[in-house]
Amino acid sequence: MYWQKEIETLDRAGLEALQLERLKTTLRQAGGSVYYGPVFRELGIDPDEIKSPADVRKLPMTTKDDLREHWPYGFLAVPREELVRMHSSSGTTGRATVIFHTANDIAQWTQLVARSLYMTGMRKSDVFQNMMTYGLFTGGLGFHYGAEKIGALTIPAGAGNSKRQIQLMRDFETTAVHVIPSYALHLMTVFAELAVDPRKDLNLRFAYLGAEPHSEKMRKRLEDFYGFQAFDSYGLSEMCGPGVAFECPHQDGLHIWEDQFLVEIVDPATLDPVPDGQEGELVLTTLVRDGMPILRYRTKDLTRILEGPCGCGRTHRRIERIKGRTDDMMIIKGVNIFPIQIERKLMGIPGVGNNFVIILERAEFTDLMIIKIEVRRETFMGDLKQLEALRRRIVEELKSDILITPKVDLVEPDSLPKSEGKAQRVIDNRKD
Ligand code: ADP
Ligand code: ZN
Repeated sequence: MYWQKEIETLDRAGLEALQLERLKTTLRQAGGSVYYGPVFRELGIDPDEIKSPADVRKLPMTTKDDLREHWPYGFLAVPREELVRMHSSSGTTGRATVIFHTANDIAQWTQLVARSLYMTGMRKSDVFQNMMTYGLFTGGLGFHYGAEKIGALTIPAGAGNSKRQIQLMRDFETTAVHVIPSYALHLMTVFAELAVDPRKDLNLRFAYLGAEPHSEKMRKRLEDFYGFQAFDSYGLSEMCGPGVAFECPHQDGLHIWEDQFLVEIVDPATLDPVPDGQEGELVLTTLVRDGMPILRYRTKDLTRILEGPCGCGRTHRRIERIKGRTDDMMIIKGVNIFPIQIERKLMGIPGVGNNFVIILERAEFTDLMIIKIEVRRETFMGDLKQLEALRRRIVEELKSDILITPKVDLVEPDSLPKSEGKAQRVIDNRKD
């Protein structure tokens, strides 16, 4: 049941001792980079004065802008010939950042993904279809290496080409898939078109949903349709890629692998630590990366530590599923709203289809939220009164949660723009 039992079940004292040793090594390594060298000298940082993992707070934080400003090699901590791989972030919030790996970095990352997949139940006998973009994006190769390490038959399907994805699933009896949740949702429309019922016609057992926020309701909807058990997979290119935190079979939060990352949750405004259980921004420090160690990286992702032990016996702490990035917050008529609040409501309403988009407009100095929502074909072609009843229900349910009244447009299935990568859920047309 464990891939690396000793590490996965190490007690807190053992974990902290390991973290301390690895943090010191990381600092020695990072001090050699063009970026951290002068920063350390200025702040008088001496790795030998780090006495506990909590001393990480003495170190400076690192942001995506720091990575952008010192692009591409400013964070390198090894000679360039030691590097074997380059990846980049998706560029969701601006210019993509690049990350370099040594052979050892790749080996460590591979172990993390293998450990995570094995934890969910993947074994040698599985057929794993990786429906993520291969290439610079970490979701393709990152998972690929991990699944091969377990010995699963790995199909590098890549993203998109929906009909071929379904064909591959049928022909090779795929048992596990890695997919972006909004794409898995969109694919449901294609299944309907092809009259393929995944529960009857396919052998799917596991799905790994990653790369973007999604709610428990979304998970439920996908599990009901596909018949697989879906696990939340969290990662970011700056730390390695997928495999940073992952759900176990208890599906109650994601174990964040503390032998490889130091975890802090801070108030995004003051940057002070928040108590366990309280929501804040996740800040991570790499502990085993040689090529490009990154200290106290501000992920901008909002989550909280879930207290108490997990029934699976793993000692690495759990974080709650990511609520979104601090950048995702919409302020409408003074109310703070995250897209996931809208997604969660919509996914709980049966008539709602497989795609939606939120459009923000400013008219006459007041903000307007328009939500275009695909409905099922039967609903769209059916009785107008029923369609109107559905529209009203959506408005009411949303209003009770987000406290403002959105304008809801119900549209035909497959009519909204779709993405093979992360969905763009919000289009903000407001001009300042
Ligand atoms: P970018 O930051 O440009 O999107 P990455 O490909 O490195 O580039 O994506 C990492 C980010 O994706 C994370 O910081 C987080 O915002 C989001 N993300 C990844 N996995 C999840 C997940 N399971 N739930 C929510 N958000 C996720
Ligand atoms: Zn667990």
